[in-house]
Amino acid sequence: MTVSKQNFIMIGLLSCALLLAACNTEGTAIESEEDISEDKITVLTTIAQIGEPLSVIGGDYVEVESLMGPSIDPHLYSPTQSDIAKVEEAEIIFYNGLNLEVNMVDVFDTISNAKPVLAIGDALPENELMEEREGVTDPHIWFDLDLWEMALDAAVAELKDYAPEHVDYFEENKQEYFSELTDLKQEAEKLADIPENSRVLVTAHDAFGYFGRMHDMEVVGLQGLSTEDEIGISDINETIEIIKEYEVPAIFVESSISSNSIEAVTEGAQNEGVDVELGGELFSDAMRGPDTEEGTYIGMYRHNVNTVYDALVGGAD
Ligand SMILES: [Zn+2]
Repeated sequence: MTVSKQNFIMIGLLSCALLLAACNTEGTAIESEEDISEDKITVLTTIAQIGEPLSVIGGDYVEVESLMGPSIDPHLYSPTQSDIAKVEEAEIIFYNGLNLEVNMVDVFDTISNAKPVLAIGDALPENELMEEREGVTDPHIWFDLDLWEMALDAAVAELKDYAPEHVDYFEENKQEYFSELTDLKQEAEKLADIPENSRVLVTAHDAFGYFGRMHDMEVVGLQGLSTEDEIGISDINETIEIIKEYEVPAIFVESSISSNSIEAVTEGAQNEGVDVELGGELFSDAMRGPDTEEGTYIGMYRHNVNTVYDALVGGAD
């Protein structure tokens, strides 16, 4: 069948009419875009170490917000009025648990009747967790890449339960993200090149226990597991003795903790003629801001590996 010229023109006019109709419904089109973003699952996390990876894995279907930004100390953080509102509005809440966010737990317990609230640290096998003092579990699990993968996996499983229509999408993104974690683990193997007597990581508080276990380094924290503990002059003197004994070439400040105590150690040691330097800033309990390399979990971890490596690999010379 051939289409006559007249019919062809008619079809053309009809198309224009349809196009015009489409143009006229532009407002509707914009509305439906809003619908899509409103359809995103709103996820709230405490620390960004949880939130940022989940925003990558959740991709187009989640809107992630983390309550604790750069330089925020999760051990001391108390929820603000606006945090409470966010907790009430979010569809799913993830937090670290293991007594990290002590002042948030009551709020989470209350809201957990109304929506999924998951402490991802609770998903880990207990025998993999470190205990620094009797009965006190070390909450800094994000520094063990294997444990963190397991914890994130539990969070993704929760997302899948919540939105079964996106299971394949979440799974694919997760596999891709986890393969980047595997690459990171290989990259971190360079820490093994640090001379054995320099494999001591001295920092402001005990955040790096899992990092030390994973990369075979001794860890000395001036403060206990929580930053709520006081630092005494005896802690400072003890640390100086350790630096002397092991000839530690460098010690580190942390982005979320005052550098005063570490500076006191460096100064005290130098006054005794010990050759020790500040090795740079490590990210312990908080990452850098959004849209920076160290504002991503992988970038933050890589920064720490490189900073420790650069400061210690030369040994005490
Ligand atoms: Zn900490």
